[in-house]
Formats: sequence, structure tokens, C-alpha cells
Amino acid sequence: MKIIDGHCDVLWKMDEHPSIHFNDDTLLHVTYDRMREHQVYLQNFAIFVEPQNGEALDMNRIRRNLDTFRQRIIVPHDLTVVRSNKDLLRLHEYGGIGAILSVEGCDCLQTPASDVVELYESGIRIISLTWNYSNWAADGCYGSEHCGLSEKGKHFVNICNQLGMILDVSHLSDQSFSQLAEISNKPFVATHSNCRAICEHPRNLSDAQIKSIINSRGVIGLNLVPMFVDTHKPDISAFLQHYEHLCELGGAKHVALGTDFDGVDKTIHGLENSAKLHVLSEWMTQRYGDERTNDFFYHNWFHFLSENLP
Ligand SMILES: [Zn+2]
Repeated sequence: MKIIDGHCDVLWKMDEHPSIHFNDDTLLHVTYDRMREHQVYLQNFAIFVEPQNGEALDMNRIRRNLDTFRQRIIVPHDLTVVRSNKDLLRLHEYGGIGAILSVEGCDCLQTPASDVVELYESGIRIISLTWNYSNWAADGCYGSEHCGLSEKGKHFVNICNQLGMILDVSHLSDQSFSQLAEISNKPFVATHSNCRAICEHPRNLSDAQIKSIINSRGVIGLNLVPMFVDTHKPDISAFLQHYEHLCELGGAKHVALGTDFDGVDKTIHGLENSAKLHVLSEWMTQRYGDERTNDFFYHNWFHFLSENLP
């Protein structure tokens, strides 16, 4: 089975806890062995530095995460870092496990225009302006400081477009989303967001937002977070309602996986970690056939990345 997962927080867990090994299957949802069971497994690893925990937020925190990534994930294992279309095609053709890097929230960037160039040169290819709260760039889904994007945030969107840094709209407020959609001249993605029409929550996307991502030729990675799937019965059937809703909105070629594994404590029954993804695949194959299942697990992200990586 080929899998591309648009979001996990393994790096956050490992950076916070220096003793966690990338093969610790009691503490991690995504592990080296679980990835290795698949023909291709490309995982987006998010660098997430939690704001408001009292520690200084600066680029050194991101650099520390990059060290964790290199020293504890890449070097001891045989992961391919995917920075370019060429890297992606190599993984696609020869198989194996790969990593793409992203930053979740721009809170650590103090001189954004030069910091983002450093991030890009470090191999980071996807960035979101905020996590849940407002920062210098924009309002997150729980913030209302700027009525959307700040002037600096708007300028930052232009810089990302020029640089080829892919913009991720998961966690943005509705106003931030609209303004980013209006000014971005490149496709953008929601790496880990579900449908508000199925489960009402500010972290989930409205139908208009979903259409806007589809129109930009972007991708929506559906997450497996119980509270964003269904507040009453977050099971596989409920998850598939999000998938079907996205397809009804014309998103069959834009809907993909963005588990949010290791970013949450609670998981959906039957989908407790990345080794269980085959269960979801079996359900989907039975209901929608091989081609659509493959589009969801692999091809839609693959197609997007092959068009948007350098
Ligand atoms: Zn997140």
C-alpha cells in the first residue's frame, strides 16, 4: 500500500521528550517500523513549537527541531527527505519511506523575510501562518486580533508564493482564510482539516473554504481526530462522511490523508495508529473501489506535490 500522510506531530513529541526513540510504538502513533511496512510511505513531519508555554519563541526552537529530525529520525533510519519533485519521483519509482518537512505556525519567525528563506534552505516546504491563536502574521481559529491577516502576514504570503513555500490553511480563522485565498497566487492546502458541514467546529472547513482550496488546485488532508470527526460517535463511518462530503463538492481529486497522529491523545476506535491505516483502506476499497482509495491515500497528494515542489 502507498501512503502519503499530510500531517503528524512525531517531531513535537520527540523534541519535547529527548528519550523517545522513533521506533517507540507505545508512545508514538507513527513509527519507523510502521512506515516500513508499506511500499511507499511519505510522511509530512510538522515542526510545531507550542506558543504560550512561557518559553522564548525564536528560530532556535525551530533549529532544535531540525536537529531532532536529522539526528533522531533521518540519520539512524533510511528515510529519504523529499525536497524536490526529483526526490518525490525517486521514492515513487523505487519505493521506500520518506519525509517532507513543514512548520506549523510562524510564531518563531522574528525576521520573517529572511527566516523563511532559512527554513526553505533547511528543506521545509510547507508552512502555516498560525496554530490556534493569533500571532504577528494572522488570526488563528481562536483569535481575532487582526481581523484576518496583518499587513506583515499579507506580505509574508507574497514572499512564500515567490519562494515556492506551500501555504497550509489548517488552523486559520475564517477571515484569515478568505484573505489568504484572495492574495495567494499559488495553490494552497489544508494539511489536516475536516468538514464543518459534517462536524461543526472552527477547526473544520466550511463548504466555501473547501471549494476555494479545490479552485486553487490544492489538497485537503482529512484528519483522524475524534473531536473533528464526530462529537457523538467518531468512528470509521463518521470519518467517511467527511470523505463523501468532499467528493460531493467536487473534491475527489483533492481529498487526501492528514492524520494528525501524535498531535492528539484520543484516536478513533480501529484507527489507533499508523499500522491501522490498512483497516481504513479496506473499508474504502469495499465502498469506493481501488482507484478512489488510492487517490485518497496516495495519488492526490502525489499529484499536488509533483506540481508544487521545485
Ligand atoms: Zn494542527
